[in-house]
Amino acid sequence: MPAFNHKILVVGSGAGGAMAAYTLTKLGHKVLLLEAGRDYDPKKESPMFRRNSEAPLMGAGNKDKNFGFYDATVDGGWQVPDEPYTTAKGSDFYWWRARMLGGRTNHWGRYSLRFSEHDFKGKSQDGHGADWPFVYEDIAPWYDKTEELVGICGTNTGLDDMPPSAPGVLQPPPTPRVPELLIAASAKKLGIAAVPMHRAVLTRNKDDRMACFYATPCGHGCSIGAAFQTTTSLLPMAKATGNLEIITDAMVKSVAVNDDGKVTGVTYIDKKSTSEHVVSADIVILAASACESARILLNSKHTKHPKGLANSSGQVGKNLMDSTGAWLGAQIPALKGRPRYNEDGHTGNHLFIPWWGHQAHAKGELNFPRGYHFEISSGFNQPGSGVSGDKRGYGVELKQQVRDAYGSYVGFALRGEMLPNDDSYMEIDENVKDKWGIPVSKFHFKWSDRELKQIEHGLKTAKKILENLGAKIDKLPPAEKAISKGGEIIHEVGTTRMGSSRKESVTNQWGQTWDCDNLFVMDAGVFASNPHKNCTLTIMTLAMRNSTWIAKQIEKGVL
Ligand SMILES: Cc1cc2nc3c(=O)[nH]c(=O)nc-3n(C[C@H](O)[C@H](O)[C@H](O)COP(=O)(O)OP(=O)(O)OC[C@H]3O[C@@H](n4cnc5c(N)ncnc54)[C@H](O)[C@@H]3O)c2cc1C
Ligand code: SF4
Repeated sequence: MPAFNHKILVVGSGAGGAMAAYTLTKLGHKVLLLEAGRDYDPKKESPMFRRNSEAPLMGAGNKDKNFGFYDATVDGGWQVPDEPYTTAKGSDFYWWRARMLGGRTNHWGRYSLRFSEHDFKGKSQDGHGADWPFVYEDIAPWYDKTEELVGICGTNTGLDDMPPSAPGVLQPPPTPRVPELLIAASAKKLGIAAVPMHRAVLTRNKDDRMACFYATPCGHGCSIGAAFQTTTSLLPMAKATGNLEIITDAMVKSVAVNDDGKVTGVTYIDKKSTSEHVVSADIVILAASACESARILLNSKHTKHPKGLANSSGQVGKNLMDSTGAWLGAQIPALKGRPRYNEDGHTGNHLFIPWWGHQAHAKGELNFPRGYHFEISSGFNQPGSGVSGDKRGYGVELKQQVRDAYGSYVGFALRGEMLPNDDSYMEIDENVKDKWGIPVSKFHFKWSDRELKQIEHGLKTAKKILENLGAKIDKLPPAEKAISKGGEIIHEVGTTRMGSSRKESVTNQWGQTWDCDNLFVMDAGVFASNPHKNCTLTIMTLAMRNSTWIAKQIEKGVL
């Protein structure tokens, strides 16, 4: 590589790393970005118009393509070849990784909900977990800037779970689907609101990205840039400044530190040649995803950092949280045999049910501490049929049953807050190395009674909403069976948490590690809690805010 004279080195090109690179390059700083995955260009590689009938197994998911043949994740999934991880006896934990430029943003669901003051200060309200080291007002303007840049559609609802965006920031949401309107009417009878989901999908053209034209499932990737992924937005925009250099297939092994506690750069393996390289930098930003950044830190031992880098608190790897998940669905009689029409709008849910129980919590009326929301699945679900396999018979009669059932099923996916607990953490498995000779992560995971009670409440609520619509629901499963496995919701956070005390946290509010002032973390590792709202909007917002802070420190000569 010709001399590039970067000052800042970023590890990872997903939500956090790409936002850090974008922000810093726009502010005039030279950034070198190392990405473990291969180069990827959605404009050329997204199978936007391919049909399931053209794919092996009708496009169904399998061991190599967990979310279906056309999924945008060209390299990654629950297992990554050559990069194993282990789980402790008695722990169920699944770690979903993408090894490609843009990371998991090529594929994510794009649900993008702001955290609120309730979310940042949970401990002050109920004594559980940890508070974040800032208040909502500090971050609100950064949410506005991020939502504007990323392109989020939705509305200001006025609900206490959904802080408003500044006027003009949000793009208009798509029209609700008919089943969603039925669910909204049913939920209203219980005093629960269903409102437009906030999603990182353009409904109006922006920069050189086009508005959504309802082409294919967004998980296939979006070649027109409507569905936000860093590979069609932040990374090309950062490259256009001339200040960004990216090296793909570069697997970072460790961060180097000198005796004065200053980070000097990183060591990485070139996966193509398997050769090891050392790159220097004045500032290192880890954004390799929560558990991967923690793994790098734990693998960066030094005589002065015997427990791993930035780990004087002993908190690196601890406080591992995922979202809780559960699902309940049914057929709605009123939707059977409904007329066919074009259901315009992106392929995610257009309405969802935010958490409605803040007041009930304050009054002590609930037997679990934190909230959840419901993502609603419904609609004609092209290009699949969305019809359950319980139909019986042959020929015309069978076809009629399938036609009547098409578009008549709805589902509630619960996503809830998990609190940190002592049984959920990651560490290094000293007995297992990956293909590159790097010791792997080992996961410990357990839900507590608090999450199980939350699931029980959620299933009962979903059942009531469905039964109001005439659906027949069998006996509900016990919460222990219904709850997702750890990691399955793919919202793993907390392993390098931020805080206001160096004894109890790994970084300060700027993602700057307490132990090395030129080392930063900008992924969900820094989350002090894991509110029920999907994590990525907040990862990007913090990365933008904290990278801007770094630029100011450089200007002042502090960094
Ligand atoms: C199916 C699915 C649905 C999802 N839906 C939603 C949703 O609706 N809303 C939401 O908020 N979130 C959702 N998520 C989660 C979301 O994708 C992640 O929260 C987000 O991408 C995390 O950003 P990140 O930058 O921390 O990590 P990633 O996006 O995972 O990027 C990390 C990058 O770092 C690279 N890397 C890792 N280790 C190294 C190393 N050692 N050296 C160099 N590079 C490295 C990786 O290859 C990767 O490209 C979903 C995820 C999946 C898979
Ligand atoms: S539905 Fe819209 S946003 Fe999603 S992939 Fe198709 S065009 Fe892109």
